This record gives sequence, C-alpha cells and structure tokens, in this order.
Amino acid sequence: MFDKILIANRGEIALRVIRAAREMGIQTVAVHSTADADAMHVRMADESVCIGPPPGTDSYLSIPAIIAACEVTGAQAIHPGYGFLSENANFVQIVEDHGITFIGPSAAHIRMMGDKITAKETAENLGIPVVPGSKGGVPDLETARATAAEMGYPVIIKATAGGGGRGMKVAGNESKLETAFRTARSEAKSAFGNDEVYMEKYLQKPRHIEVQVFGDGKGGGVHLAERDCSLQRRHQKVFEEAPGPSISPEERARIGGICAKAIGDMGYSGAGTVEFLYEDGEFYFIEMNTRLQVEHPVTEGIFGVDLVREQIRVASGMPLSFGQDDLTINGHAIEIRINAERLPNFAPCPGKVTQFHAPGGLGVRMDSALYGGYSIPPYYDSLIGKLIVHGRDRPEALSRLHRALGELVVDGIETTIPLFHALLQEEDILTGNYDIHWLEHWLAENIG
Ligand code: ADP
Repeated sequence: MFDKILIANRGEIALRVIRAAREMGIQTVAVHSTADADAMHVRMADESVCIGPPPGTDSYLSIPAIIAACEVTGAQAIHPGYGFLSENANFVQIVEDHGITFIGPSAAHIRMMGDKITAKETAENLGIPVVPGSKGGVPDLETARATAAEMGYPVIIKATAGGGGRGMKVAGNESKLETAFRTARSEAKSAFGNDEVYMEKYLQKPRHIEVQVFGDGKGGGVHLAERDCSLQRRHQKVFEEAPGPSISPEERARIGGICAKAIGDMGYSGAGTVEFLYEDGEFYFIEMNTRLQVEHPVTEGIFGVDLVREQIRVASGMPLSFGQDDLTINGHAIEIRINAERLPNFAPCPGKVTQFHAPGGLGVRMDSALYGGYSIPPYYDSLIGKLIVHGRDRPEALSRLHRALGELVVDGIETTIPLFHALLQEEDILTGNYDIHWLEHWLAENIG
C-alpha cells in the first residue's frame, strides 16, 4: 500500500479523496493554485504545494507542475478526482513514465473510451447493446443523408471527441439535416479541435441510466447497480438516485451482468461508469466514463462501500474488498448538486460565503469544501456541494432530503438550493416519473 498520495484536484472531490486516504493511514498532498491558498482541501491535507496561477490551464491542468509536486513531496501515486486531468491518457502515460502510480485505469483504456466511435465499437464487440447509428464516422452530408434515411428520423449528430454535451445536434427531418450536420461539425471543431462526427437514432423519451463498474485489472469485474441521472439541464446532471426507480431487479441483474463481464474481459482496472439511454425496456450504450463520477455517493449509500478506498486498493495491486455476491442493495439514496448559480438563468455567482451550515442527522451526508468566510473563486466550475441522503426506501429518502434541505444554510451568495425546494413539490419527482427532457420542460414552464 502507498504511504503518500497526491490529489490533482480541488473542492469537494479533493476532500473526498483525502478522507478515504486518511482512513487508510495514507498521507496526503494537496496541490493548489494561488487562488486556492485558503481552500479547504489545502487545510485538510497533510502537505500542500502551490502549482501555479488561478486559471486551470496554468495550475490544475499543468502536467509538469503536478509531476514536480509529486517528486518534491515523495508522493507515490496520484488520484485525479473527476474533471481536470482525470481522463487525459497523455497525462497517465507521463505519470507512469515517472514511476508514479495513476489511481485509475490504464492510458490505453482511457484513450479507447475517450474516442466515442472506438468506445461504441468496443462496447458492441463486448456484447453491450448500443444505440443504432452510423458505422463509424460520417464524413460528408451525402453519407449523413443516406444513414438518416436508413435509420429513420429523428437523428442526433454527435462529436467523436465530444464531452460535456457539446457538439450535439438533433435533426427532426431531412430539411433540418444539413444545418444540424454543419453546426455539429463546426462546434466539434471549435470545442475539441476535431470535426469528426457520427450519427445515432435520436431517442425521444429515454432515461439516463448508468451502471457503476469496477475492474480488478486481472480479468475480474463487478457491477454496483445503476444510477438514474435523467434530471439534466443542458445535458448536465442535477439530481441523481440509486437504484433507478424504473429498473426492475431482473433488468438490473441482466444489464449489470453484461457490464461486469465486459469490464473483466477488457482487463479494466479501477472504477468506471457505463452510460446508457433506457427506453421501453431497452438499454442503449452511449459512452463510458473511465473515472470516479460526481454522483458516486449514491452508490456508496446503497451498498455501504467506499469507492475511493477501492480505487486506491486496486491501484496499489490489492484485490477489491468485495465480490459480486457480497453486494446487496440496501434502501435508496439521492444526491442533489448545489451550484453557486443565480436563477433563473443559472449564471455563475461566485463570491464570499458569509455563513455555511451543513445539515446532519441519520442518513445525511454533505460533501462540500465550503466554510463560513470562504470566498468562492470565479475560475472553476460552480459546484459548491452535494447533499446526499439515504433512506430505507425512496419515500423515506425523499422526506429526509426535504428535511435536510431545510437545515442547509449558504448565505452571501446565490445558489441552486431554491430549485430543489421547488422540485420536491412536484408529483413527478415524488413518483420518479421523469425522463431526460423533464427538467428542461419544467424549467421553461416554471422558472424562466
Ligand atoms: P457527453 O459526453 O457530451 O455528455 P453523451 O453521449 O454522454 O455526451 O450524451 C449526453 C446526453 O445527451 C445524454 O445523457 C442524453 O441526454 C443526450 N443524448 C445523447 N445521445 C442521445 C440519443 N441518441 N438520443 C437522445 N438523447 C441523446
């Protein structure tokens, strides 16, 4: 096992990793930009190193600065958190070339899943059901027309190098295809420096269901059921729950089994998430994330396992502390993402938090790097905390969420807390009756 690890991240996820490491008796090194000198992750780690000026590109994304911080402090491994360098295969290669362990999958697996066409082909070869679509990339409008005619409209055009919901355009019929194709390509070019696109059948009322998997790197794989992350704004998740309210035990066992076997067959190492759209009882693979997800705590809630601890164990060469048969779902968990944003248009709202009070009590977990008097810097994303609740069943989790939200105080800035107070009054949320478009429609009618 490692004696010391470095966390190449900030905010709540850096705290999350420090907490797991501390419970395992591992020393921690925080890195930070000059804007984050007073940040909670710096205070909580055993050591800290300043790695550059405020912009992410000059600090949290600076590979030489992070490698140097490892060498100066003697950290043996790097945990990347999510975002920043967590899915950068080039970074993983450089880390390993320096004799440092990357806490995550191999560079080859990250590269394979980072290219969405390769990811889809790989998934299909491993027996995972995929969304019907083009065979590989769609090089020109003629091919796009032919593919759409064969699949039937509506279709969605997506960037091969895509991420964060960018470079995606829907065409409802042939007259819309040309504009959608050209816009998707130019967005892909400017966002990712690569204008290759592919096409899929556009599903009209799917849910976003993702399966948490873990590979031991030696041919073994397990799944930890699914999360429903259908409540999204601009393809960004805002509310996640596990297990999925629309998934039966039989469906869970079937799709989980397929994913666990695929992960084992790939020789995958560490945590991963296989994302699907789910409609009319069918699962359709869209992509795989090769890292810890923001919403991992809901899975931890229903299984009572620490996923970061398992990531560190596997990276150090130890086996997972559980097998498939040891994993039984206990109750229901829900997470809400609290952002420093001003409603109705969700404009970022950084600034000084004058008061912060985290809710507590049975089944309540608050993952946040806030403290009273902290100034949220304007340079990074607007997530300031995640409130996670666990109950014996979904109704209990919902009433606990309602109660905990009432205790939460974040003063001095505007946040998305009022959005959740309103959502918890909605019948569809209380019954779990929503798809990936529900929130956008609701926002258009109620906030806006
Ligand atoms: P990104 O990596 O940019 O997040 P994804 O492929 O994961 O892109 O898709 C993000 C979201 O876009 C999905 O959760 C879903 O809401 C929507 N989406 C993607 N593909 C389709 C499709 N074929 N039909 C309908 N919606 C889709």
